[in-house]
Amino acid sequence: MVSVSELGYLGLGVSDPKAWHGVATEVFGMQVVSGDGRSASYLRLDSHHHRIELRTDAKDDLDFAGWEVPNEDALQRVAQQLEDGGVSVTEGTRDEADQRRVLGMIKCTDPSGILTEIFFGHPVNPIPFHPTRPISGFKTGGMGLGHILVHVPDVDASVRFYRDLLGFRVSDFTDVATPAGVIRLSFLHCNSRHHSIAFMENATAPKRLHHIMFESNALADVGTGRDICIDRGIPIAVDLGCHMNDQMVSFYLANPSGYALEYGWGARTIDDATWQVEHYASVESIWGHPQLRQLAGGH
Ligand code: FE
Repeated sequence: MVSVSELGYLGLGVSDPKAWHGVATEVFGMQVVSGDGRSASYLRLDSHHHRIELRTDAKDDLDFAGWEVPNEDALQRVAQQLEDGGVSVTEGTRDEADQRRVLGMIKCTDPSGILTEIFFGHPVNPIPFHPTRPISGFKTGGMGLGHILVHVPDVDASVRFYRDLLGFRVSDFTDVATPAGVIRLSFLHCNSRHHSIAFMENATAPKRLHHIMFESNALADVGTGRDICIDRGIPIAVDLGCHMNDQMVSFYLANPSGYALEYGWGARTIDDATWQVEHYASVESIWGHPQLRQLAGGH
């Protein structure tokens, strides 16, 4: 089986690109790269041309996710895996590939309706990334842009698609008992990052995206980002804490589209040769994340 190697890019429909630019530059130190008339703008955070494409769109949610494979041969083999699994695949047009700044891509829809693109050949930007505030930078490289947690109607169907057709491995499962019933989550990896995508079973959530996570190279970047949120009145949705599963120190801020951005540091990584799938009965953190602690009914 051929596996995708990393979360390469995300397309977000946003009603207020200017507000997004403000948060991206002021809190995270990302660069805004102007669009070309076909999309609103791009956000850059490493050597890639961009990692986030912002399109003006009132839905304020995920438009598409792009997963990278190493080369054209791997792209064709993933396309075959998808078709063998009964998924209809279309080849991206030259125009679409140009807009994503990639050499080639295919498109399909995942079981929860996410427009899913697989691509190879991202361009390396010869101009070094210049952060817009003094930060140490982002942990990307072979680990991709970060991770996303999405609401899906059927966690098992989503796990089967990403594991059996795109080559992901399960990191862990979480089942949280609440008075309203059990909330099921699962976390999957495609490289050493603990998870690049995670699913929370919720068929009625107003947004597909629960959050997008960006991992910093330095704890100080996260701490100063939190200071900036407090100084500028940007709401903190979940304050500082350390997750049980990926052991990331992070906080979550409310973004202009009404879901969250997680700013994290120091997560543990996965070695597939030794990793054993874990099971958690709570989303409670090792320390902190007080809003998650309340959700878990903890102390
Ligand atoms: Fe997260």
